[in-house]
Amino acid sequence: MQNWRDNIRRVTPYTPGEQPAETDVVKLNTNENPYPPAPEVEEALREAACETGLLRRYPDPEAQELVEALASFYGMSPERIFVGVGSDDVLAMSFLTFFNGDRPLLFPDITYSFYEVWAGLFQIPFEKVPLDEGFHLRKEDYFRENGGIIFPNPNAPTGIEESLEDIEEILQHNPSSVVIIDEAYVDFGARSAAELIDRYDNLLVVQTFSKSRSMAGVRIGFAMGQPELIGALKAVKYSFNSYTMSRLTIKAGTAALKNRAYFRETAEKICQTRELAQKRLREFGFILEDSRTNFLFVTHPVWPARKLYEDLKREHIYVRFFPQPRIDNYLRITVGTDEEMSKLYDFLAGYKG
Ligand SMILES: *Cc1c(COP(=O)(O)O)cnc(C)c1O
Repeated sequence: MQNWRDNIRRVTPYTPGEQPAETDVVKLNTNENPYPPAPEVEEALREAACETGLLRRYPDPEAQELVEALASFYGMSPERIFVGVGSDDVLAMSFLTFFNGDRPLLFPDITYSFYEVWAGLFQIPFEKVPLDEGFHLRKEDYFRENGGIIFPNPNAPTGIEESLEDIEEILQHNPSSVVIIDEAYVDFGARSAAELIDRYDNLLVVQTFSKSRSMAGVRIGFAMGQPELIGALKAVKYSFNSYTMSRLTIKAGTAALKNRAYFRETAEKICQTRELAQKRLREFGFILEDSRTNFLFVTHPVWPARKLYEDLKREHIYVRFFPQPRIDNYLRITVGTDEEMSKLYDFLAGYKG
């Protein structure tokens, strides 16, 4: 007799960073933006609350209003844009849509840990490609047969940006694979691969409102690519669950795109705090590469990462520690406000290890 337990799909889920219940914490562990979203977002939500049919009627499955706002923000035609409930949703849909072959999907050994989870869930063969000693991606490692390629640029949790020239070379060597660049952090001073979309029909660029637009709680992500890729994504999405973006989400996202100046200023403030943080942390003896994101990936020659993580937590300062090969003596520290970062520096100034 078959047991129903034998038919359960067994997966090891992704482990997100802690969301502590206390409010009086310095939360530098999940790369959230410390500043509020553009004021237009709150305004739009207040207006939407008065709208008839907001709750009663189904949303537009295409989220056309948001797609058009994105198209105009990025100077791209709407057929080149796909939206989803956070970039996690967009990425999961992309795995399901594009990585359907027998050859292995390639991604770095140190990267966003959700990739391995989706590969497992969708039973996609994959290979983790080791980053070099300095945590840089070696482009030559991707010049071989594969069933697809994905990596974040800048990479997470290292914060390291690879050049657009390297990405283009990877694209040139892989005309038969879909190459996904996960640009969750691109707005903090990195260069987007979106400008290559015209020339490569196999390139998908994925971005999110969670970090640079301070909207992790709203859940909006999007992909940019040629219409053939976008069309394939839509076909899979509409075969799975069409109405994922609520009317409120669509309104909030559209409103956020109205204020380009606020978006730029907020990202710029975070970049300034980051530059100062890099300097301060180096003064405390930490070793780190220059980050192009809203987080720093640091190691210390004397203070073991796990102990420092625990000692910080005891003082209600939350950072991220990954108990994984190669990076288990590193901490990932989100760039908060200057005030939040000062609390970290004050702690470190009195830290004896
Ligand atoms: C935060 C993050 C995401 C997911 O962001 P959401 O849009 O909130 O789902 C995807 N990829 C990387 C590398 C991230 O750091």
